[in-house]
Amino acid sequence: MADRPRFGPAGIPPLFKILGARLSDVPGLLREEGLDAFEYQAVRWGQKPQMKQEDAESLGSEARKNDVLLSLHGSYYVNLCGKKEVVEASKRRLVACATAAQWMGAYVVVFHMGFYGRLEKSEAFRNCVNALKDIVATMNSLGIQNVKLGPETMGKVFQVGSLDEILTICEEVEQTQLVIDWSHLHARHQGRFRKVDDFRAVVEEVERRLGTEAARNMHCHFSKIEYTDKGERRHHVLDEARYGPDFEMLAEVIADFNMRPVIICETPILDVDAIKMRDTLREVIKHKGEE
Ligand SMILES: [Zn+2]
Repeated sequence: MADRPRFGPAGIPPLFKILGARLSDVPGLLREEGLDAFEYQAVRWGQKPQMKQEDAESLGSEARKNDVLLSLHGSYYVNLCGKKEVVEASKRRLVACATAAQWMGAYVVVFHMGFYGRLEKSEAFRNCVNALKDIVATMNSLGIQNVKLGPETMGKVFQVGSLDEILTICEEVEQTQLVIDWSHLHARHQGRFRKVDDFRAVVEEVERRLGTEAARNMHCHFSKIEYTDKGERRHHVLDEARYGPDFEMLAEVIADFNMRPVIICETPILDVDAIKMRDTLREVIKHKGEE
């Protein structure tokens, strides 16, 4: 949970890799760029943490030293509404992610819930809720209390993760964190965000369902996005004018609602666009102060 709007990349920026940076160097490099969040990508993980505890801990201590808030993107190999074996394996994968999140001090494990498959949407969704309750119980039995589960709004129509579903989970399951991927919502609804009020409507809906604090403290993903009639197709950089959504419109709403979201940039150029978004929000806030 952030004390102010925070910005950072989804994973290690390409340039850092070229420079040969180690994982523990990342927070310091982000700070030099004026960024203050980092989402570690555990997206290919199996049922055990695929990093050493000491590496996670040194990332964590560097992040604290450099005032970089950590989150962790959980395994893509998760489906909480599939066959029983698949669901059980998915639960173990998410617990592995939560374990490493605790090691590094990441406040949330962001993840994708799964696919409706052959099930009725409502039945698939119920399975997800039940599985999540089991995962939270396991986390608590392991002493993982400072990490939240963050199911994300999803960009394809056959994926569990509409705004309503995510809000319902936050209402029903303990230890959850609201994660809004604005680009996914844009793609899922064929270009949902065309004006400032379209963004405002989502924040108001969150406020109505989960309260003002939850709305102010949402965890966000943002990039430009290309879509088809099935939803999300590809992420694009912010400068690609022909794709939406427009971050400046979201920045207006962040300023108006006095929000302090964590905004993770998922465009192909990660930190470069995170800096752009940070500067856009600064400009918007400055402008409003002058009005
Ligand atoms: Zn994601």
